[in-house]
Amino acid sequence: MAKHVLILGAGYGGICAALETRKLLTADQARITLVNRYPFHQLVTELHLPAAGSADERHVRIPLDKLVGGKKIDVYVGEVKAIHPDQNEVEMADGARLGYDVLVVGLGSETEFFGIPGLAEHSFVLKSVDDARRIREHVHACLDEYAKTKDEAAATFVVGGAGLTGIELIGELADMMPAQCRARGIDPSAIRLYSVEAMPSILPGFPEDLIQRARTSLESRGVQFITGVAVTQMEPGAVHLKDGRVIPTRTMIWTGGVRGNAVVAASGLAVERRGRALVNEFLQSQSHPNVFVVGDSAVVMNGEGRPYPPTAQISWQMGVHAGRQIYALLKGAKMERFVPHMAGTLASLGRKDAIGMVGERKWHVKGKPAAWLKEASNIRYLSKIGGLFARA
Ligand SMILES: Cc1cc2nc3c(=O)[nH]c(=O)nc-3n(C[C@H](O)[C@H](O)[C@H](O)COP(=O)(O)OP(=O)(O)OC[C@H]3O[C@@H](n4cnc5c(N)ncnc54)[C@H](O)[C@@H]3O)c2cc1C
Repeated sequence: MAKHVLILGAGYGGICAALETRKLLTADQARITLVNRYPFHQLVTELHLPAAGSADERHVRIPLDKLVGGKKIDVYVGEVKAIHPDQNEVEMADGARLGYDVLVVGLGSETEFFGIPGLAEHSFVLKSVDDARRIREHVHACLDEYAKTKDEAAATFVVGGAGLTGIELIGELADMMPAQCRARGIDPSAIRLYSVEAMPSILPGFPEDLIQRARTSLESRGVQFITGVAVTQMEPGAVHLKDGRVIPTRTMIWTGGVRGNAVVAASGLAVERRGRALVNEFLQSQSHPNVFVVGDSAVVMNGEGRPYPPTAQISWQMGVHAGRQIYALLKGAKMERFVPHMAGTLASLGRKDAIGMVGERKWHVKGKPAAWLKEASNIRYLSKIGGLFARA
């Protein structure tokens, strides 16, 4: 009889796990159900584009039926409420209980607010298409307000956290501001764009020359960096910083950290202190071997005993690997260690600029070539999942 493979989350990890499992196992061998909150796959790495208003939401949304339709993969759209790994059961918010023989958890991560007072209540996050829409509408409303009142807080935008997400977002905002200002008769020099980072430098993991390149590029478009200074409090009209500074603003977009998905943290699967599942070299849960955990929901160590960063490129590779290990598990074949292939890291700095390190030798790239490589990596991913011409 066909085994039931239940996959939670249709992000980078989940969609690749579903497609790879189906590629290797027939419908007689495995029934596959893909569960997701939305009826579409989100290109999370591109969310800064609709958030700043430089691309339509359809650019980052691919209907699941276009990706898995006709492949004998059932789609269940709904909210996962709890995982009961000792009962081989998943509880949905709509009351349904889904049983499984093998589970793949790919529910991604959640924003970490580090207990900073007021931050969760009064800031925006960027984790979904809905979040991107909220940011765009809010920024436009602030600009409308500034055009009427000249209240400086309405023209001041703070991005908290200067990792990949924060930098890509502020680069896009910087590029879109002049046109948005012109449309409202606002002098663009009235806009304040702050990137606030608690660490001494932006873009952790990038080499110094590329960091300097990113700073110069963004500063030339009006971004002001405040580094080595933590956010200590957020209230509706102001951000408070550790050095005593207070920035009057209506807008804090917080990209300062991620933690494991709360459903995974509470599931009874073995997790570390930030709620990410602990997995073995085959990506099986350390506590429940019929559960594979992929993407940002898991923590995977590199050869030096340090966790790999939470990235889309590792997430989709984990999904593919989990699919192959499920085949091995069900067929009684030998499982293989997960070893990610690191093609490089690229950060966009707006519409026409980017930086990155590519290839085994981590060649440094900047400017238009880096921007093209970033687009090429998107195209490569989309063609891999069959989503090149499927965006909604
Ligand atoms: C703006 C931005 C830019 C980024 N840029 C890059 C980049 O350039 N390169 C890079 O490699 N990485 C980048 N990242 C990181 C990358 O996007 C993540 O590492 C990646 O999305 C993780 O993939 P995942 O499959 O684990 O989770 P996700 O892609 O987040 O997918 C999780 C899925 O689970 C669903 N889900 C979650 N909880 C529930 C629930 N309770 N019930 C039902 N469904 C649920 C979600 O809706 C989602 O579909 C960026 C992230 C952001 C936010």
